[in-house]
Amino acid sequence: MKKYDLIVAGGGLAGVAAAVAAARDGMSVLLVEKSGSLGGALSGGLVYPFCPYYTEENGEITKIVNAGLFSEMITRHNEKIVGHFLPAEPNIRLKDGDIRRFKTEYFKMVLDDMISEYGVDVLYHSMIYDVTYEDRKIKSIMASTKAGSLELEADFFVDATGDGEVFYLAGCDHLLGREGDNLSQPMTTCFRVCNINIPLYIKELPELQRLYKEKRASGEITNPRENILQFYGLGEGIVHYNTTRIVMLDPTDPLELSRAEAEARRQVYEVVDFLKKNSKAYKDAVLVSVASEIGIRESRKLRGMHIITEDELFACTRFEDSIALGNYDVDIHSPDGTGTRIRKFDRDKYYTIPYRSLLPKEYDNLLVAGRCISTTHEAQSSVRIMPICVSMGEAAGVAMAEAKHSGKNAHTVDIKKVQELLINYGAQIY
Ligand SMILES: Cc1cc2nc3c(=O)[nH]c(=O)nc-3n(C[C@H](O)[C@H](O)[C@H](O)COP(=O)(O)OP(=O)(O)OC[C@H]3O[C@@H](n4cnc5c(N)ncnc54)[C@H](O)[C@@H]3O)c2cc1C
Repeated sequence: MKKYDLIVAGGGLAGVAAAVAAARDGMSVLLVEKSGSLGGALSGGLVYPFCPYYTEENGEITKIVNAGLFSEMITRHNEKIVGHFLPAEPNIRLKDGDIRRFKTEYFKMVLDDMISEYGVDVLYHSMIYDVTYEDRKIKSIMASTKAGSLELEADFFVDATGDGEVFYLAGCDHLLGREGDNLSQPMTTCFRVCNINIPLYIKELPELQRLYKEKRASGEITNPRENILQFYGLGEGIVHYNTTRIVMLDPTDPLELSRAEAEARRQVYEVVDFLKKNSKAYKDAVLVSVASEIGIRESRKLRGMHIITEDELFACTRFEDSIALGNYDVDIHSPDGTGTRIRKFDRDKYYTIPYRSLLPKEYDNLLVAGRCISTTHEAQSSVRIMPICVSMGEAAGVAMAEAKHSGKNAHTVDIKKVQELLINYGAQIY
């Protein structure tokens, strides 16, 4: 394989954004992904919808805080679905929440389009399992492919694997889960059911929730989640469920992760069975889709040049090296059982994400983007959402390209210049 300017590890939203942003700025880029499609949690994990990515005052949107490449993705998605759905379906803001909806399979294709149009090379079905490094430089990554092992070399690397696989293999300082007991937020396998009479289902829901709680209390239902969590907007009669909950298992332990996959599917059956038996709206309902991979909310987080805290988010700290914004709540699904701690973020405010939280202490040619950047457990529960992951990825790609063009590295790159470039590309950083 040829040597690339940049290798992006992981083709989730952060990875796609990093790869596209770097290629847009003239880098040769290879994106390495273990599955067969892009989007990560959005595609393999069926995660839906987008958490809010805008500020609001009196119900009106006042600022899109995750703009830039995220706006481009949304625009391309909206163009792609034109004519495929009823007039009410395009993703325009009909009422609160509508601009957070998207069609998963179309979004996946949009990511393919972008990667190919910006000229990024992709290796699907390629699992990164090792890293070579010397002094403060990552030299190559090793990927297991259909043709055996490949050594992939580049001048710069972005770790967008969600689990921080590259920085872990390279020995960077990191934190697994939360301080103290290293427990991560629960894992969840999302699933979708079609042919539901949705108006009737919505009427039945309060009673279904009551009954669900009763059956949990009696031990008949074993899922530790406190209620049934569902979302609409995917199409006529389709309901999306984000309601299984796997606690106390380590997403980075191969055996525990495998147990989690099987146990989550058992919980999918448990919920569907409960609804089939207790909901009239479920008379013709069919379980049509179970995520091909369990969704991991949290695992390893870099301990980089800056560790973002919950206090910093809620103080709306304006970091001088801001490269992205966010305004989602602190949203911690209990790592050890029932309950969810939600600390609401004021809808008219936003916080900044400093470049230093993408920057490992140990290496000069590595940046981290996405849910595994350098934060505390609490702050991660806010910055991990999909729109913010895109913004972080875009910033990482732009920073790497600027480092290359100016003969600098990830530590010495001119951050003011990176900020200027991001603003020129339509990203919001203040
Ligand atoms: C159950 C659940 C519900 C959520 N709900 C919402 C929601 O409603 N709204 C919202 O906005 N956000 C939500 N989130 C958060 C959000 O989906 C994720 O945090 C975000 O998508 C993470 O993006 P990422 O690019 O950092 O990582 P990921 O999406 O995890 O992507 C990482 C990619 O790297 C690849 N990879 C990993 N290891 C390797 C390796 N060794 N070699 C090669 N490739 C590798 C993976 O296959 C994957 O494609 C939810 C998350 C979960 C799990």
